[in-house]
Amino acid sequence: MKYSVIHRGDDISFQLMQTFHTLIRERGLHHDEANPDVVLSIGGDGTMLHAFHKYKDQLDTIAFVGIHTGRLGFFADWKPDEVEMLADMMGESAQQNDLRVVKYPLVEIQITTPQGIETQLAFNEFTLKGVDVTLMAELHINDEPFETFRGDGICISTPPGSTAYNKSLGGAIVHPSLDAIQIAEIASINNRVFRTLGSPILLPKHHHCDIYPRAGQNILLSLDHIIMQRDDILSIRSMVAAGKKVKFARFRPFPFWSRVREAFIGYEPIHEKKP
Ligand code: NAP
Ligand code: MN
Repeated sequence: MKYSVIHRGDDISFQLMQTFHTLIRERGLHHDEANPDVVLSIGGDGTMLHAFHKYKDQLDTIAFVGIHTGRLGFFADWKPDEVEMLADMMGESAQQNDLRVVKYPLVEIQITTPQGIETQLAFNEFTLKGVDVTLMAELHINDEPFETFRGDGICISTPPGSTAYNKSLGGAIVHPSLDAIQIAEIASINNRVFRTLGSPILLPKHHHCDIYPRAGQNILLSLDHIIMQRDDILSIRSMVAAGKKVKFARFRPFPFWSRVREAFIGYEPIHEKKP
């Protein structure tokens, strides 16, 4: 089993990477940055996003795992003082040639410009915003006109990304076993000309949404942490990525809802059982 490490760049993450290299070599794993089987991200969820985009063309063969060096990360769920336990479990799974993984759905977008169609993948979400003025766009679902949007922007997120930007927009948290994408509005303006539904919606697999920005607009497009300014976008189609998922190595169980509770609510049970 080959591994690679991505770290946030701070001293603590760097030190932890050095420790991990030593521990994991003792357990027989080889470092291979180009073709790893397991990618360890040391830092936060943002570091995991970097890891994802670095290896997004190898998703079939790679499983990710994360150690958090800040607050509890959503995807970086191992603590720094558990690094040896993680190395033990990785070593064991390498020896037995048995790597357990969970798979999460992604969003695929197809950007149509006068030059052609570009395809991109996002792990958390993609967003579309206006640069100088509010975004104006027509939204179609499954080739039927749905609404005319005007406002700050539109966020289309994956189930694992539903706890990120989408959550701040009042979107629902979606269990990653559901193959769906969520469309959430960012401060829509509603009047007689521009009418939007106002509620976040979920699209299942095989449905698609097309966004047609008003021609000539300067647009800010974000894919996770990557932001680009574009004025050549004719339309953007989004859908659940077909046949592409991101895999996380599960060396121990940590259910999604426990993760949500620990990240957002806290560890303390309200009703302590009295003896
Ligand atoms: P950032 O500004 O450092 O990240 C914003 C926060 O989102 C950080 O606390 C980050 O955790 C957390 N986060 C990222 N993915 C998450 C997930 N799937 N579930 C729960 N929390 C998550 O920028 P960044 O680290 O490069 O991350 C880019 C992401 O920031 C975007 O994909 C978007 O989801 C999010 N964002 C949120 C808002 C908002 O809520 N208003 C606005 C813009 C962007 P770490 O500190 O562990 O990295
Ligand atoms: Mn961050």
